Amino acid sequence: MNTIIEHLTKSEPTKRGMSSLDKLSAIIDSMPSGPEACISCNGDNPWYGDGYCETCYPKSQQGIAEKNRRDSEIWKDSIESAHAILARIVSPEIRETDRNHPEFNASCYARVKQAWEGPEWMWFHSKLSGRSKTRIAYLYALHWIAQHGQQAIRWRETGCEPVVWLDGDRFSEACRLRHQFSLGQSIQSHAHDLIEAAKNCHLLVLDDLTKRKMATESVSDGFWEVIKLRHEWKRATIFTDNGPIEGLAEVLHDKHAPYIIRRLAERCIEFDFDNQAA
Ligand SMILES: [Zn+2]
Repeated sequence: MNTIIEHLTKSEPTKRGMSSLDKLSAIIDSMPSGPEACISCNGDNPWYGDGYCETCYPKSQQGIAEKNRRDSEIWKDSIESAHAILARIVSPEIRETDRNHPEFNASCYARVKQAWEGPEWMWFHSKLSGRSKTRIAYLYALHWIAQHGQQAIRWRETGCEPVVWLDGDRFSEACRLRHQFSLGQSIQSHAHDLIEAAKNCHLLVLDDLTKRKMATESVSDGFWEVIKLRHEWKRATIFTDNGPIEGLAEVLHDKHAPYIIRRLAERCIEFDFDNQAA
């Protein structure tokens, strides 16, 4: 580059104003200059690209390839561990859902699929059981894991579980036990860990949320903690329940109900699984 500029600036300008070579050299002068020396060896070898000299450039490329290879291994590993978590906690009956089975709720599945690239809080509800809410929540979880695989390296770094799948019953029980000081520390700390995992994980599924009443203050407290943090961090969450969000007013403790409902209504896409209209 310097040789070109020297060559250009040495050429004779015409008498009338700037020659085209002057203009060209002015343009070149105004361009940001390349690095003075190689960022790796700081030596005199000819500059090559990306801040490296021609000797160091191939090595830097090798380093990048090596890092990509390591990242893709972590990625594969994290995806597999997310699947393994689901396999441990979701029953085989749900995992082996046959989407062509006559009782599978294909019309709701089609509706959910249309929306699942959008906001990442979903609320599936139906009064009737056997509407495939849990099955479709599982299919969504699989889709989500595949979609967010690129972030799997971050899952590792944050130290949070990629996926937590909790039954509403178990969640309520954990909220209740967390404050039962008489039970001994191990049960208490187990309950505490479970709620922390639900708060922080990258994808949370709360299945059959209000099967057990959540009106006690300790359960409502726990649920509020989870909603508040996940709302702030915009972490993906799927709920299945027997009624729409506003119905929670009757199920939750008054202390938190309005705050919880407002955040759920703001973030969730609601699907009525009793409504079969496509
Ligand atoms: Zn170098």
